[in-house]
Amino acid sequence: MRAMVLEAPRTPLVETELPDPEPGPGQALLRVLACGVCRTDLHVVDGELPDPKLPLVPGHQIVGTVVAGAANARHLPVGTRVGVPWLGHTDGTCAYCRSGRENLCPAARFTGYQIDGGYAELTRADARYCFPMPSQYAAAEAAPLLCAGLIGHRCLAATGDAHRLGLYGFGAAAHVVIQVARHQNRDVFAFTRAGDATAQAFARELGAIWAGDSDEPPPAPLDAAIIFAPVGALVPMALRAVAPGGVVVCGGIHMSDIPSFPYAILWGERVLRSIANLTRRDGEEFLALAPRVPVRTEVQRYPLAEANAALADLRGGRVRGAAVLVP
Ligand SMILES: [Zn+2]
Ligand SMILES: [Zn+2]
Repeated sequence: MRAMVLEAPRTPLVETELPDPEPGPGQALLRVLACGVCRTDLHVVDGELPDPKLPLVPGHQIVGTVVAGAANARHLPVGTRVGVPWLGHTDGTCAYCRSGRENLCPAARFTGYQIDGGYAELTRADARYCFPMPSQYAAAEAAPLLCAGLIGHRCLAATGDAHRLGLYGFGAAAHVVIQVARHQNRDVFAFTRAGDATAQAFARELGAIWAGDSDEPPPAPLDAAIIFAPVGALVPMALRAVAPGGVVVCGGIHMSDIPSFPYAILWGERVLRSIANLTRRDGEEFLALAPRVPVRTEVQRYPLAEANAALADLRGGRVRGAAVLVP
């Protein structure tokens, strides 16, 4: 099979012919139909996440067709279209796993990081972590639901019933979250890189009642904010923008250092928290919710061999919606 391979951090992916993966016990072999490109892939490629499997096939928003089933996975017969997310393995026995928090399992392993992912023509995945995909979506449109959508959903849940919601960074996750938030009649305020008129216009098209630069105060105090951009300096900005009792949620897996800030902007029972990974329950909930909203993803397609260009466009803020690789 053809794959785009990370041989060492901070080097471009290399187009490589690899032997077809052999599914092990409990694994399904999938023909990849589409694989979303996530900011986390950039953090892996850039060496910001420690100790990736090497060489590595990145990619953790995989939509594929089962071409060889797993003996113990009767729910995934050959021909089923499934999604493979970031969470690829847990021990199922630790205190986190037993309390509905498998996203925090210390033995968890992740697709496209410690397990080869979907920047390839074929992949294999533990059938227990694959989701059946809603049939309403074409494969490329479905791929961003698997991380941008799922993690966005978990972040949005962490804001409770906040009515005035700020989104910092208007990329793949925010363009999904805003649709769910509008469906729930929340008011959305979108914050982008200073002067990014394109992203601000995109946010308004999707229903933001205000869009501006991230260093601007919103026109009214927010009840909650979600930070998707990997920029620690946004944390004090978001804390200043939320009202007492408000929550600031950091949605990314990696962020630059957070500058020190005066206690006064946390005072007033403001809450600062992160969101880590996903549970399978998040996936089931969100994949059922998305077609009901209905969430419509906007994608920029790239041929598999153009993965480096997709990553560069994501890094440069040139992607409207989500970037998706199509073999
Ligand atoms: Zn566990
Ligand atoms: Zn991701």
